[in-house]
Amino acid sequence: MHNDAKSTSHDAIAQIDSDGRLRHLLTLDGLPPNRITALLDRAEAFRSTSAGVSKLLAGRTVVNLFFEPSTRTRTSFDLAAQRLGALVINFDVASSSTSKGETLLDTVHTLEAMHCDAFVVRHKESGTPATISRHLHSHAAVLNAGDGNHAHPTQGLLDALTLRRHRPDFSTLRVVICGDIRHSRVARSDVHALHALGAGEIRLCASAELLPDADEFPRCRIFHNFDEAIAGADVAIMLRLQKERMQAAAIPSESDYFTRYGLSAARLQRARTDCLVMHPGPINRGVEIAADVADGPQSLILEQVTNGVFVRMAVLAELLAADSTTPLRA
Ligand code: ASP
Repeated sequence: MHNDAKSTSHDAIAQIDSDGRLRHLLTLDGLPPNRITALLDRAEAFRSTSAGVSKLLAGRTVVNLFFEPSTRTRTSFDLAAQRLGALVINFDVASSSTSKGETLLDTVHTLEAMHCDAFVVRHKESGTPATISRHLHSHAAVLNAGDGNHAHPTQGLLDALTLRRHRPDFSTLRVVICGDIRHSRVARSDVHALHALGAGEIRLCASAELLPDADEFPRCRIFHNFDEAIAGADVAIMLRLQKERMQAAAIPSESDYFTRYGLSAARLQRARTDCLVMHPGPINRGVEIAADVADGPQSLILEQVTNGVFVRMAVLAELLAADSTTPLRA
């Protein structure tokens, strides 16, 4: 498993087969813009039909393999697969043979032997979904549901879909992403989606310890001061402090953090009056975002959750419904 926070072009190549079809979804880095747009269009189509219910994946089996906690991603993958008619297995890591020392790849091969068609994988180590995809014995698809601080491609897609519904023209958008960017797979997938879709300006804001290495995002503007970063912004994407990926000594005090980097109603007034507020969840009220902003009229947080189901339906349909995949070349 690689621990590199930077997406690898290898993953981008490995997820498209020689016929130009999406074989796995490991990262948005390097995914052609027309491929991303096609997935968003498909999600939009599911959204516009009544609850998007279909039998497209009848007879297929999707396994949720979550080795890290999840509320939104796991539930929405489950719902998405069920709404397409697939059978869903929510693999219970704690009560499985993983606890008896079985390796992850042996677990996957065991599930493949039962003819499972897709593995939705969340893992604390970056690169785990890509490793699984390289060692499969079958034609199963691997969907990255968040690996370490590397990528969370369906979150990037659902954020892009949510934004596109409110601001269809990305070219003039000033998007500020604020918070623990260094440890955030969401920030990475959002940046890749926003660049692919032609966002006008992406501002990354955090203290020096919570920013990625200087060369990781050469096309983004870097800020340390949130009051400056949010000035005139059209969209503010807030991130949680991912304490589970920090050394204990590096965790900032919550009240000090809120003073410097929290999104309060007063600070939001520095942005455009119609600035949209997003957050992938789980939110920590009073730490990175004030409760009145999270619940306020500019917040899209629950709409992001709603769109997550449609995006995951689109991705599952694209990967698993053989007759409906679209070969696309960059
Ligand atoms: N739910 C997102 C993730 O799994 C964001 C977070 O945990 O803060 O990356």
